[in-house]
Amino acid sequence: MTIAERWRAVAARVAAACERAGRAADSVTIVAVSKTQPVEAIRAACAAGATDLGENYAQELAAKAAELAASPPAPVVRWHFIGRLQRNKARLVAGRVALVHAVDGVELADEIARRAGGTVQPILLAVNLGDEATKGGVTAEAAPAVARAIAAVAGASLDGLMTMPPPHDDPEASRPYFDRLRALRDRLEDELARPLPVLSMGMSHDYEVAIACGATHVRIGTAIFGSRS
Ligand SMILES: *Cc1c(COP(=O)(O)O)cnc(C)c1O
Repeated sequence: MTIAERWRAVAARVAAACERAGRAADSVTIVAVSKTQPVEAIRAACAAGATDLGENYAQELAAKAAELAASPPAPVVRWHFIGRLQRNKARLVAGRVALVHAVDGVELADEIARRAGGTVQPILLAVNLGDEATKGGVTAEAAPAVARAIAAVAGASLDGLMTMPPPHDDPEASRPYFDRLRALRDRLEDELARPLPVLSMGMSHDYEVAIACGATHVRIGTAIFGSRS
């Protein structure tokens, strides 16, 4: 299958999952995760209809954005930073992306705000619901205090939560994690008295389950671009 064919298949499945959940088709943003993929692959996805691109290394995002801009016609894209961001790389991302998905502490939020060049950078709090030591994100227990601190940072806008369940072949294995993220979001909206509309959850193997559970952003790499080398 070509990238265009895979994009159309994913978009159709997203639309069907929205319909089954009684949600509007435009309530879910497909973030096409282009990490390790060359700029030609990104162009193919954009030509097929992709508007939002996700990368998880700051230098790779900066390099690809520059390369696309340098070779017209440059597609109009919104970049998403979906990986763990080191504080010393914040300047490569802050103020340049639509959304930073995986903020895991107030120090990083502060640095992003400082580097956002006078704009307000939308961010999400990453929550590690599987308590996997190797993964970034705060625990569900720590989330309320961290969210409160981050929400107070001028120059960053806490818009919601992100999670990545433990890897599993069965997409249904992700459902409890997605349900927990949504419940945590609902609770934090009450506690912080602010809307947290964004739920970034679901990848190639489990995005339909994520949409059933309320995902607003699904991060899809392999199902659009094919396997990564
Ligand atoms: C790579 C990656 C994805 C996409 O994974 P696929 O299984 O290829 O869809 C989503 N989210 C994050 C944080 C990633 O690093």
